[in-house]
Amino acid sequence: MTDTSSKYLVDERGYFGKFGGAYIPEMLYPNVEELRENYLKIINEHGFKERFDQLLKDYVGRPTPLYHAARLSEKYGAKIYLKREDLCHTGAHKVNNTIGQILVAEALGKKKIIAETGAGQHGVATATVCALMGLECIVYMGEVDMARQKPNVERMKILGAEVRPATSGSKTLKDATNEAMRHWINNPADTHYIIGSVVGPHPYPDMVARFQSVISEEIKHQLLEKEGKSDPDYVFACVGGGSNAAGAYYHFLGHENVKLIATEAAGLGNHSGKSAATTALGREGVLHGSRTILMQTDDGQVVEPYSISAGLDYPGIGPFHAHLFDSGRALFESITDEQAMTAGVLLSKLEGIIPAVESSHALAALENFQFKSDDIVVVNLSGRGDKDLETYIKWGKY
Ligand SMILES: *Cc1c(COP(=O)(O)O)cnc(C)c1O
Repeated sequence: MTDTSSKYLVDERGYFGKFGGAYIPEMLYPNVEELRENYLKIINEHGFKERFDQLLKDYVGRPTPLYHAARLSEKYGAKIYLKREDLCHTGAHKVNNTIGQILVAEALGKKKIIAETGAGQHGVATATVCALMGLECIVYMGEVDMARQKPNVERMKILGAEVRPATSGSKTLKDATNEAMRHWINNPADTHYIIGSVVGPHPYPDMVARFQSVISEEIKHQLLEKEGKSDPDYVFACVGGGSNAAGAYYHFLGHENVKLIATEAAGLGNHSGKSAATTALGREGVLHGSRTILMQTDDGQVVEPYSISAGLDYPGIGPFHAHLFDSGRALFESITDEQAMTAGVLLSKLEGIIPAVESSHALAALENFQFKSDDIVVVNLSGRGDKDLETYIKWGKY
């Protein structure tokens, strides 16, 4: 079997195919350049790897189980495994990345951390690792989002972070991102900016994908042990910016026999005007510092996305996934709120696992496939549903 992974990974110029790069204001160039010059050297050092692995093991709780979901398997007529990222400390995969980045910040001699957050999940994962390392943490969050996501705001504060409201524009994620960028421009020497998904200017998408790639590395070993072969037939994952999916796909990219299924949030339907399904509705452009695919108007204004799940409510996808879509390597499916909530309740009843609503989008896509009985299917369960209790209650159909 030939390994073709390199054509799906970042090239020397910071591109995935024709996507990626670093489209940033000149004022930000020194910060991003410092990171670009150093990140590979830092993360490939033996000492770094040792500390990263140790923290993933003892602090995050890795390896996360690869669980054979027998009742779910029976329903869909295939052998279905769940990769249990929901069991990570803080309840989702995001912490894999923030652990990696806080160690990079430390290696670069940075004393302060900034981040932006929409729903607050990335903010909490960042505040967590700052507490762990004793670093100062400022999280920018839109004023509207702060009101919508009060529990996460309080979590960040308990963890010792300062949450700064972004009060311009729509007072949501994009405005928080602008504020964080401005902060970084003004504090280049002592501050590292932790981005929460495989988005942003090069080298962020590549760096975040590498930190999350531990997911597929574990899947390979676990499948070999359980099935006598390391390649599944399918890997399903939801895509907001795309970090959990990038991690779940990473070591299978070059194995073209492994089908990669990416699910995007279609909200109330792709033709309802209330959707976040980027590949179905978007086209090429520049978002958050990289060339990618995003939802935009004819004159290039970013379209406000909608999804019931805060983590998928993003108007683009990272360049990693834009290239997987463009090359046909991954198959993209649109999943509505209704389909996702139904799948989340189904998993709860069949397996005793209440998934994050984001992860339910990956589960819902199982409905769209005709499997063979010996197909091995891995669904990346990116997070747990505790944070979504309100959403389940409002949904009501359980
Ligand atoms: C944030 C989040 C996502 C979406 O982010 P990706 O970068 O696309 O992985 C998915 N699932 C959960 C549980 C999340 O918290």
